[in-house]
Amino acid sequence: MKQKKRNEIAELLRYAGKYRALTFLGMVLSAVAMVMGMVPYVCIWLAARDLIRVAPNWTQAAEIAKYGWMAFGFAFGGILVYFAALMCTHLAAFRTAANIRKQGVAHMMRTPLGFFDSNASGLLRNRLDGGAAETETLLAHNLADIVGTVAMFIGMLVLMFVFDWRMGAACLVAALISVLAMFTMMGGKNAKLMMEYQTAQDVMSKAGTEYVRGIPVVKVFQQTVYSFKAFKSAIEDYSSKAEKYTGGVCRVPQSVNLTCTEGVFIFLVPAVLLIAPSALAGGDFAGFITNFAFYAVFSAIVSTALARVMFAASGLMLAKTAVARIDTVMHAPTLPVTENPQTPEDNGVEFKDVTFTYEGSDIPALEHVSFKVRPGQTIALVGPSGGGKTTAASLIPRFWDVSSGEVLVGNVNVKDIDPHVLMDRVAFVFQNTRLFKTSILENVRAARPDASREEVKSALHAAQCDDILEKLPDGIDTLIGSEGTYLSGGEQQRVALAGAILKNAPIIVLDEATAFADPENEALIQKALKTLTEGRTVIMIAHRLSTVVGADNIIVLDGGHIAEEGRHEELTSGDGLYARMWSEYNQAVQWKIASVKEGV
Ligand code: ADP
Ligand code: MG
Repeated sequence: MKQKKRNEIAELLRYAGKYRALTFLGMVLSAVAMVMGMVPYVCIWLAARDLIRVAPNWTQAAEIAKYGWMAFGFAFGGILVYFAALMCTHLAAFRTAANIRKQGVAHMMRTPLGFFDSNASGLLRNRLDGGAAETETLLAHNLADIVGTVAMFIGMLVLMFVFDWRMGAACLVAALISVLAMFTMMGGKNAKLMMEYQTAQDVMSKAGTEYVRGIPVVKVFQQTVYSFKAFKSAIEDYSSKAEKYTGGVCRVPQSVNLTCTEGVFIFLVPAVLLIAPSALAGGDFAGFITNFAFYAVFSAIVSTALARVMFAASGLMLAKTAVARIDTVMHAPTLPVTENPQTPEDNGVEFKDVTFTYEGSDIPALEHVSFKVRPGQTIALVGPSGGGKTTAASLIPRFWDVSSGEVLVGNVNVKDIDPHVLMDRVAFVFQNTRLFKTSILENVRAARPDASREEVKSALHAAQCDDILEKLPDGIDTLIGSEGTYLSGGEQQRVALAGAILKNAPIIVLDEATAFADPENEALIQKALKTLTEGRTVIMIAHRLSTVVGADNIIVLDGGHIAEEGRHEELTSGDGLYARMWSEYNQAVQWKIASVKEGV
């Protein structure tokens, strides 16, 4: 277990780069500060010795003023050195955290886009940010304090032999017992219980957040106590785990620990009583009393140091989770970038015997799928939910890479195309379009950063967004998501289409939204789509079959396989899956029309 912890710290320090030296310097300075902090106690001992020697003629103790100044000097110097130590470790810690963030973001830039689909980007940012922040306390304080504490233990051992080893041993025994008690709480099989306890705490706080988020839903739907279920059981779980850990594991060791840290006297006083007779018989009464005075005062720093060990131990635990969090980001798979990129010959798209399985899944989402789209053609992917349509579309811009087979753009494997060239060639509009919290102008311009304001405007016009711009207070410069300027789903889709139009890519991948807000929006979106798709290669995922009637080819995906393909007329003349979907679709449309007529 120790070994592992050391590795994690080493791993963190790797991120520090050349600032790592500062961490080590800080650790050394912290040790020096600790040793300097012990000197005043020695001065007290020296002063006490001189005073007792000359008692009661105090004026003869000429040296004690010197000891006083020495004590002051070392105490003050110790504080300064400790301050310097913390400066070093803080500088290194902040730099390390910054490097972790930088490297994490750099790494994320190389991960496939699809990775962000299954790992919400907010969550990733949290992991990276949280992980980086958690390392700060460890690197800035805990490491230096651990070294300081080790220095203190060594110092104690030395002083033990310098003054009275029996009294020193008594203090040391107290310290050792308290350290042992701490490790009992955190080591061995208790480590698992502590983990469970901490996990339960995490779960509870997350459930709490969820609960607060869900309050509007609870209110609207007049839900009862059952909607608290997840939160309630998280609390109950936490309370039972907390009881198990604190009551079952910690009660005795923690009592022992606190008793020993706070009451070093428990060992010191009996030890002194035991050795008193022989010391007194030896005649060195003064020396005996001075030593006792020294250890009585000295025991105070034992408590401080032990408290630091406690913090340091929890710092090490945090480091472990922090490294694990950072690793999920740093070890995310990256897309291999080709060494000698090739240029696509045209704007056709082809799937050659493509099989793709999502990571962590056993069943392929696509299996042996082959089809060809010639430049300028429009093909539609249709089929039941979960059939693999979105997956197939995502493979074209390399949101993911195929497990086997090939995806070709212009007769070149997408893996052999420079990612920038591929991105320039393919525009995609996906179902769950989210606009950024910035102006409409910037949202659209994200598709082609060098576009002028006029170009953005005409793209918005082509995407039928004029009505949106008119009703917004600052038109194209209106910030979205601020002060109540929210766009409906259909409106957002149109702004996203403006981006795709602006990008002017020859290949369009389109995942049609399942439901638009209202018929008016729908008509506008259809118009915008028409502008967008004219003269381009289009791969369209259609949910409303009315939009696919004119497609050059319709591919019906079911369970990751191509169930059938052909033009609309061909497919409807048979009695396959598409024919059934078509008749169901028509019934649904008729039902809708009927209900509108009857005023339902
Ligand atoms: P469609 O778009 O036709 O509804 P999808 O391509 O979204 O179908 O999904 C095909 C299959 O792959 C489904 O079984 C789905 O559960 C699975 N799937 C989709 N996305 C992921 C993902 N990010 N991770 C794991 N499995 C996924
Ligand atoms: Mg889908």
